[in-house]
Amino acid sequence: MPIYLDHNATTPLDPAVLEAMLPFLREQHGNASSRHEPGTVARRAVERAREQVAAAVGAQASQVVFTSGGTEANNLFVKGAAGMRRVQQAIVGAAEHPCVIEPVRDLARGGWTVRELAADARGVYDLRDLDRALASSTGLVCAMLAHNETGVLQPVADLAQRARAAGAWMHADAVQALGKIPVDIVALGVHSMSLSAHKLGGPKGAGALVLDKRIELRPLLHGGGHESGMRSGTENVPAIVGFGAACERVPSRLAAQERHCRALRDDLDARLRALGAVVFGEGAARLPNTTFFAIEGLDGETLVIELDRAGYCVASGSACSSHSTEPSATLLAMGVDPALARCAVRVSLGPENTAGQVAGFTQALGAVVGRLRSLAAMVA
Ligand code: PLP
Repeated sequence: MPIYLDHNATTPLDPAVLEAMLPFLREQHGNASSRHEPGTVARRAVERAREQVAAAVGAQASQVVFTSGGTEANNLFVKGAAGMRRVQQAIVGAAEHPCVIEPVRDLARGGWTVRELAADARGVYDLRDLDRALASSTGLVCAMLAHNETGVLQPVADLAQRARAAGAWMHADAVQALGKIPVDIVALGVHSMSLSAHKLGGPKGAGALVLDKRIELRPLLHGGGHESGMRSGTENVPAIVGFGAACERVPSRLAAQERHCRALRDDLDARLRALGAVVFGEGAARLPNTTFFAIEGLDGETLVIELDRAGYCVASGSACSSHSTEPSATLLAMGVDPALARCAVRVSLGPENTAGQVAGFTQALGAVVGRLRSLAAMVA
């Protein structure tokens, strides 16, 4: 089995989550909208999961709108909020995930003014830039809690405080944060937050938008009025149950997992530096499990393929855009030279990874680097 070091792309399904889901994949096939017994069982399971998801982020169950994942949750907020506000200004972090930045950019077609928040060399948004951009006409501000590539954490509570003071709605993409660091919607002071089950040991195909009850969004999907009218479509009961079970496991595991991953990641960073790598986002607060690095002159895609051959699964950028040969937009927003950005490789650790695997990975990387360098010297 290859060694999996790509947990920001997706995580293995937690066996306890699978156990919780199995009855709803086998015998409990009811539609949660049906009035009969199987329907009632499904409804109860969905409402229990709603409570579990809400509890994981310090929210009320009634604030949770289940979606198909993080992409849909982010689109629901951006398009749904824009649909309820008069045409205004939207402010979005320049390093946001494409499923936030693209819908925000798309608002420009409807007459909105779109302003992108600059990131500094560490990848952190500049609060002064937000102060300069905020105006009485600002309707929305979007910034992520933790970056999928660099792992860099954004000062979301400070951004939210400023956005609120200006009368704007603040949305945080918390997809990469939940399960890795504490997430509390009240402490952050955001109006809404997106989550995704498959990033924390849950199944693919479930996520949520957690929403301040005082704000109303225009739904993306119209139909039977599921999810209090916010997201029509028969609920994906097994996936929602799995999402709830994954969320329920967060509090009891978070501290140990954070400690475990941070120790491995710090060791990894030290080993990478010894190989001459540049680690992006160093100096900023980062997710404990993530490192994004480059070895000058060695293409990131090539390294990922060579490392895969050596039995290690890593990424050259965000999985959602890994078929693209463009350098990471986030690194470009941080002012990284495009040639160096093309060399970027991401390692994202999980609870099952070990110190031995990290050592084995850096050994394999060292061997690949040596081989590629001698090949390059031969053709030069
Ligand atoms: N937001 C961030 C920060 C992500 O990393 C991802 C996925 O990689 C998403 C949103 C999209 O989530 P999903 O895969 O559930 O659509």
